[in-house]
Amino acid sequence: MEEQYGKDDREQGRGTLAVWGGEMPLKGGNATQVPVVHSVAFGYGDVEEWLDVALGKKAGHIYGRNTNPTVAAFEEKIRLLEGAEAATSFSTGMGAISGLLFGLLSSGARVVSLKDTYGGTSKVFLEFFPRVGMEAVLCDTTDFGAIEAEIARGCDLLYLETPTNPTMKVVDIARLAGAAKKAGAVVAVDNTFATPINQNPLALGADLVVHSATKYLGGHADALGGVVCGRADLVHRIYHYREITGATLHPMSAYLLLRGMKTLELRVSRQNESALALAKFLQGHPKVEKVFYPGLPEHPGHDVACRQMRGFSGMLSFLVRGGFDAVKRLLPNLRYAHLAANLGAVETIAGPPATTSHVECTVEERAALGIPEGLIRYSVGIENVSDLRNDLEEALAKL
Ligand SMILES: *Cc1c(COP(=O)(O)O)cnc(C)c1O
Repeated sequence: MEEQYGKDDREQGRGTLAVWGGEMPLKGGNATQVPVVHSVAFGYGDVEEWLDVALGKKAGHIYGRNTNPTVAAFEEKIRLLEGAEAATSFSTGMGAISGLLFGLLSSGARVVSLKDTYGGTSKVFLEFFPRVGMEAVLCDTTDFGAIEAEIARGCDLLYLETPTNPTMKVVDIARLAGAAKKAGAVVAVDNTFATPINQNPLALGADLVVHSATKYLGGHADALGGVVCGRADLVHRIYHYREITGATLHPMSAYLLLRGMKTLELRVSRQNESALALAKFLQGHPKVEKVFYPGLPEHPGHDVACRQMRGFSGMLSFLVRGGFDAVKRLLPNLRYAHLAANLGAVETIAGPPATTSHVECTVEERAALGIPEGLIRYSVGIENVSDLRNDLEEALAKL
């Protein structure tokens, strides 16, 4: 966060930024790749210089819980992709989300958010907020009028996520950010599902964007991480909370995420295309009751998605006829899908909400959230779409 390695970021395409953004200038040695700096502390021969760095008067690093060059390069790459003033990273996506919430808010705060936020986020609202005297009002995700009315009743932070997990609801960021601005509230958006390739919430009026870098940013399901980007004054407060409380991103994870991000635009473009093709295929299948994908014109969020997204993402979900029994029979017949609680990787990943996004809920609670037991969440990988389609067709035929 403290350093800016990037070149002029105004005229570059997202594919170019994904490759070159944040890459450090060569210093000592001629490595073309950002090195993994496995050093807890950074030494100084000159105490005056040490003091200047420690006081933030001069760029540099002091101690690994605060900053690290590999971690800084990762922050710079995502900062450029989100068009943000500043970025700060965390050990996980949930570290980033709780750092954002607890770094900015204090007792008495009122947050307006959605019923469909990521499971961990919703746990923070429902379980940990009351302990510190903070309130989170969770509104019907697509009832924008009701959300605006709730914001008008008093709001310190509007916390959004779009598209949502697992039913791919789309939230109108520009409209709700406008209402939040009138109420003097800060606006934060979880952009994990969309990625900066498909959506830039800051350009739509948000103040902060948060990512689980574990998912699409890294893209290879081998490193956990999180990041918050946006207004510099807010990001600095969140960075300060993290440097003190300590949910720091590991340099090795930062390296894996940086390397993964170089192909972000390639991967996400492919995943967008394949997901749309598979959504259309599944929609016409007799054993599929319903497909949830914002790229389909029938999807209730399609118009908003067309306005605020450049692609409809690589995530989709579909409802198989026959409920949870059918899900249990279908999933093991998929040849090209990890059955796992993850998403956004190069491999296709499939699973039911009961073991992934909504594992903590009862059947009744899932039903109340509009999540039927026959639902399958399908994170499209970068395989050839013809193989994924055949795989789904064969597995559905066996039902
Ligand atoms: C996975 C996920 C998170 C949490 O990220 P972790 O890296 O697992 O802590 C937050 N938001 C969304 C939308 C996610 O998919």
